Amino acid sequence: NKFDSIQLAPPIQKALKSLGYETPTPVQAQAIPPAVAGQDVLGCAQTGTGKTAAFALPILDYLENDRPEIIPNQPTTLVLAPTRELAIQIGDSFRDYAKHLRIRLAVIHGGVNQVPQVKQVRRGVDVLVATPGRLLDLMNQGHIDLSGVEIFVLDEADRMLDMGFLPALKKIIADLPKNRQSLFFSATMPPKIQSLAGELLFNPVSIDV
Ligand code: AMP
Repeated sequence: NKFDSIQLAPPIQKALKSLGYETPTPVQAQAIPPAVAGQDVLGCAQTGTGKTAAFALPILDYLENDRPEIIPNQPTTLVLAPTRELAIQIGDSFRDYAKHLRIRLAVIHGGVNQVPQVKQVRRGVDVLVATPGRLLDLMNQGHIDLSGVEIFVLDEADRMLDMGFLPALKKIIADLPKNRQSLFFSATMPPKIQSLAGELLFNPVSIDV
């Protein structure tokens, strides 16, 4: 039950070692293998369970192995988080796990000037971490095109709905390509979340920790 036994690219393994990660947490042990294999994942997991790595590591592994072309304004992978604080924290985790990889990452959220965010996205990004409101703003202004998204993560889905982001979420989701991988995480699974998950996911592997 070590990270060595989960198939992840060597530079990612190296980063995990230097961060002192030895054993995957339960959500990681259950989510990473199917996610790396390209399957959709429905994860019921709270903050503090290691869920960030559960979606970040499969994304980084995909980027390292497939090296998709970087196209201006078209992120390759998209992570949606409900709050600015969480988006920033997720971005920091990605940087930690990707320290031996060359990836382009942008974190966009409201409450700050959009111009630097627009410039970053225009250069092209492998990973875009975003809050729904600012993402939708930039999409509506023509600064972000989601048609190239290969992997989509929805983190803390229940909190997103509690914050009233369902209309924004629906618009964002409608712009995602159908042919994509989706990883969906929520601390709770009330009926509204289950139906959203049902719309988003194809044959998901369900995880409950
Ligand atoms: P998260 O639930 O993703 O916010 O992670 C909670 C905390 O656990 C963070 O500080 C992570 O750096 C840490 N963490 C996540 N996975 C592991 C692991 N497999 N081994 C040790 N620490 C971890």
